[in-house]
Amino acid sequence: MKCTHCGNKELIKASIPMKWEGHDVDISNIRAEVYLCLKCGHCEFFAMDKIAHYKETVSRIAELEQELKPLQKELSRLRSKGHYDSLNNRVHELEEALNSIDITIRQQQELQDKLCKARAELKGLDSQIGSLKSKIDPIINELNKLKQALSEGTF
Ligand SMILES: [Zn+2]
Repeated sequence: MKCTHCGNKELIKASIPMKWEGHDVDISNIRAEVYLCLKCGHCEFFAMDKIAHYKETVSRIAELEQELKPLQKELSRLRSKGHYDSLNNRVHELEEALNSIDITIRQQQELQDKLCKARAELKGLDSQIGSLKSKIDPIINELNKLKQALSEGTF
C-alpha cells in the first residue's frame, strides 16, 4: 500500500472511531479500516462494510423488481376495462343461455353453476384488486427506501 498523498509506503493500521480535534466529523457509524501514513499523516480509509451493504442493496433491489413485475402485470390485467367487460359479458351470456327453452335440466344445472361462479368472480374483482395492491404496496415502499439510500449514499 502506498500513501496517495506523498507516495510513502510506510502506513500503519489505526482503529476507528477516531477523534480529530477541531473537526466535527461523525464517523462512529462507519466501520472503516484506516491506514495512517507515517510520513505525512494522511489517512487512507477502506470501508469494506459499506461495499458489502452496497452490493446487498443492489441485489435486493433487483430481487424486489423481479417480484414486482408479475404482480403489476396481473394488477393492470384485473384493472383493465377488457377484463371487466369479459367477466360481465360472460354473466350475460350465461343468463341468456339459461333463458333458452331448448335446454335440458342437466344443462340448466350446469349453466346455473357457471353463472354462480361468473357472478362471484365479477363481484370479487374489487377485493381481488385490493389484495393484490396490498402485496404490491409494501414492495414498492421497500424499493423506494432502498433506491433513496443508494442515491443518498446511506445504504
Ligand atoms: Zn503520506
